[in-house]
Amino acid sequence: MSLVIENLHASVEGTPILKGLNLEIPTGEVHAIMGPNGSGKSTLSKVIAGHEDYEVTDGKVVLDGVDIAELEVDERSRAGIFLAFQYPAEVPGVSNANFLRAALQARMPEGEEVDAVSFYKDMYAKMDELEMDRKFTGRAVNEGFSGGEKKRNEILQMMMLDPRYCIMDETDSGLDIDALKVVAKGVNSMRSEARGFLVITHYQRLLEYIKPDHVHVMADGKIVKSGGPELALELEESGYDFLKQPA
Ligand code: ADP
Ligand code: MG
Repeated sequence: MSLVIENLHASVEGTPILKGLNLEIPTGEVHAIMGPNGSGKSTLSKVIAGHEDYEVTDGKVVLDGVDIAELEVDERSRAGIFLAFQYPAEVPGVSNANFLRAALQARMPEGEEVDAVSFYKDMYAKMDELEMDRKFTGRAVNEGFSGGEKKRNEILQMMMLDPRYCIMDETDSGLDIDALKVVAKGVNSMRSEARGFLVITHYQRLLEYIKPDHVHVMADGKIVKSGGPELALELEESGYDFLKQPA
């Protein structure tokens, strides 16, 4: 099982952003993508998730052997892809609990219902793990949440939906070190042979807590370098300047 990205080219409003990106994430592995701001990391995550603003002009995204080009966002989600956004959206008027319950209900077979008792039990257990106050169940999704609260809430959604492929876009930004450790613990508890992770980050810090199997550097819409966890440390020391030098 794997999420495979082949020669992916994508544009926003006619401007090419992804320029021939290749990446394979087998289940059981954690892949990190690092890179300078503007290199296309968020674009990649949104293209995988099926965001309508992004036009795929070439290449493909293959989920467990199936090209998902024609699938809508919700279909990709039900197929096992989850994206934790860099900038999570607020959903006024919809409580966190109702939002999660509806998302889970949408995954149930026809005629079956989410069991309310086990739903709340599961949600509270996960909130405890993420050290989230229970008051967040009744609040509108992300509305008025601090940056760090939004990021925790993204991970709560991820833990509840139990996706096969987790994409996390700069989950570390907005989190202080204690919150980062809590979130990393939640993410690490989800690591399994049946699940793959794509962890996008600008800084190495997150990768001290979520240890990647592979690290890729993205620049100008492509993966320009791949290596093991040591690559993240090298980048921390030398920065992204090497990208500007002629090879
Ligand atoms: P990163 O996440 O690596 O910082 P992004 O994927 O956010 O990079 O952005 C890559 C490039 O695409 C940037 O130049 C950005 O301005 C542009 N871009 C991304 N989304 C949009 C959009 N919706 N409209 C116009 N330009 C966009
Ligand atoms: Mg980004």
